[in-house]
Formats: sequence, C-alpha cells, structure tokens
Amino acid sequence: MLGVFLPAVALTLGAFSYHPLESDLKLDIKSIAASDSQLPAELQSADVRVPNFTYTIQKGDTLSTIFEMLDVGQADMYQVLESDVSILALDTLKPGDQLSFWLHEGRLEQLELRFNPAHQVVFTRADQDTFEYEDVRVEGEWREEVVSGEINGSFYVSAKRAGLSAAEIQKISSLLQDKLNFRRDLRAGDSFQAVRATQYVNGEPTGQTRLEGLRILNRSRELTAFSFEGQYYDLNGDSLARAFMRYPTRGKYRLSSRFNPYRKHPVTGRVRPHNGTDFATPIGTPVLATGDGVVTRVTRHPYAGLYIVIEHGQKYRTRFLHLSKALVRKGQTVSRGQKIALSGNSGRSTGAHLHYELHINGRPVDAMKAAIPVADGVDKDDRMAFDAQRDRLLEQMEASTRQG
Ligand SMILES: [Zn+2]
Repeated sequence: MLGVFLPAVALTLGAFSYHPLESDLKLDIKSIAASDSQLPAELQSADVRVPNFTYTIQKGDTLSTIFEMLDVGQADMYQVLESDVSILALDTLKPGDQLSFWLHEGRLEQLELRFNPAHQVVFTRADQDTFEYEDVRVEGEWREEVVSGEINGSFYVSAKRAGLSAAEIQKISSLLQDKLNFRRDLRAGDSFQAVRATQYVNGEPTGQTRLEGLRILNRSRELTAFSFEGQYYDLNGDSLARAFMRYPTRGKYRLSSRFNPYRKHPVTGRVRPHNGTDFATPIGTPVLATGDGVVTRVTRHPYAGLYIVIEHGQKYRTRFLHLSKALVRKGQTVSRGQKIALSGNSGRSTGAHLHYELHINGRPVDAMKAAIPVADGVDKDDRMAFDAQRDRLLEQMEASTRQG
C-alpha cells in the first residue's frame, strides 16, 4: 500500500515496540555496488570520504536483508532503528532512494539516506551503542514557470494536456471546490493559468514542486488562489482553507475524558493536563483528518502509542494518539474527512479510545469548544507583503496569456 520500508522482523527497542508493516519488497543482491574502498587514507577523512557501499533501493528490499548482505551486524541496524524512532525516516524510503554505508572494521559508522538532492538523513555513530541523526534539507532554488491552457473536455484532461500533474490538478480542485463545480461549471473556451515553482539543487531537479498561484477564467468569473506563508488566499486575501470538522470520526462516540489543562492525577495530586479529548472508540474505528493538511509525523511513543500529527497551514495542528494502524505516511497531503488511521489502544492506555488534540499556534486547545477555523483572511500586518506576492504572480500569468 505505502512505500513502507521496514525490517521483516518485529523489533523491541527498549520501551518501544516496533511492529513493522507487511512489506512486499524483495531484494536483488547483485545490484549492490561496492565502491572503491582502497582509496589513500587522506581521501577517506573529512568530507571527501567515499562510502564503502552505495545502494539504490529497489522494489522488494528490506533493511535487514541489505544489512545482512553487506555483512553489517543486526545490532548496528537496531541501533540505527532506535535513533530513527524520533524521525521515522526509514519508513519513508521508496524504490529509487539511495543508501550509502560507511564502515569501519566491519561496524557501521555512518548511514546516509538520500531521498532526493534536497533531502538526506544521515545517521552517524555517537558511541558504542547509539547513532545520532541529522535531517539535511537543502532549500536550493525554486524556479517559477507558468502553465496555461484552455478548457476543452474535462478540467482534468485540459489541465493534464497543459502540463499539470495529477497531484497538482487534485490540489487545484480541492482549493477551489467550494467555489467551483469542476464538472458542471466549466465551459469550452474557459481558460486557466498556474504558476508552478520547481525545486533545483545544483541545477538538478529534486522532484519537488509547489503551486504558487492559480487563476481560472470561468465565463465572466475569475477564480484565484495565491500561496502566501503556507496558506492559499484569493485575490482579496480571503483564505481558501476550509473549515474544520469538530469530530475526528464518522459517527459520534461517547466522550470518555474531556480536555482539561488542570486535571489532577488521582493518586499524586499533581496537575497533569489532559491536552486532548478522549472518545470511547472500539479498536479499529476509522479516524478522520479534521481539516486539509500535511502529515508531519507518524510515530510510536511508549506513552502515546502509535500517533499521527497533521499540520494545517502554520497555525493549526492536530494529533491522534493510541492508534492501532496508520493509513497515511509522513509528508502526505490529506483532506478534511479523509481516513487516516484506525483507532486502538497502543502505548500507555487504560482501554481502547481515541485521544484527539487540536493545537492553535503551538498550544493545545479544547477541540470540542475552540473557535475552529472558518476561512480567515491575510493578517493585517501581512497585507502589503501579500499584495506584492499576489501582483507578482498575476503579472506572470498575464504575461503568459499575452504571449500565448
Ligand atoms: Zn486522552
């Protein structure tokens, strides 16, 4: 289902239990290429050190088989996995990504995961038992281009013909779905322009793109979207973010414990805030994203169990704890109402339930009572910056229609 890359064994990492998902990956042993490890010693130091092995992930691979083949001990792999618990980068490896190994006397010294030229995660041995990780992200350069076209057939077909990807078309539809019925409202001869930014690092495309601006001319109507500080707004600076759902489930479940920042521990009497709302959901209940957003974390914690974090723009964040199964992965875009997980009883939990949190500007609030977002506008202080950004993007779109 997902590009999950986990060892084919169940791991126990101290207090963490690690239950790998089923993997359909298989290993092609011959494709491992040993690089030249016979370099002069001075070349093996500092930043010119060449890895002992570089390997491109293929469908069918698992981490344990790769380690086994390189004759790197399982203990080393477990140490890397322990470090990975905080970042869960290994979970996101997919075919085409690259692994580089630096070995010293048969032990792993460093492991680099290269997802693309703009993103690497490097695990480096800190001592006998532990690795530290570094999440290396290169901003590189974003080059903008205008993609424009006319409606002829469906929006999907027309946009695809103009050069937009399926993911970009999906994004456009979800941005404007409250304002435009893509199936019924568009007519032949309507037109659209999108400003797309593509990321380059050292002249090499990373595969990452961003939709910066959009305009659809629908008969006499003009529909617009402009990216500004992580959110999309229309021409007037009104937010295109959609409202949140109050409940993270399809049906309503008994509320077994409310949000309570002053809750006291029954035994110790110490204040132990309850930063979320608990619902008495049986194990396996579908858990839904309450707003459009991006999954920033799918992880396990000795107390929180399996949990998911979703960022909804820069202001709002939701968290879902004690899950039994995640149906999304880190980095994935989700829309309001999308099934993201199954509830459970994982971590330190007194019974099957879903613990749901809503954070505003980094602080947990009562998700049952908070003023949940209804299309905010651009902040007053940001108005001039937004106008400048909008006008710059519009100018590009205008220029492209004059040329075309
Ligand atoms: Zn709770």
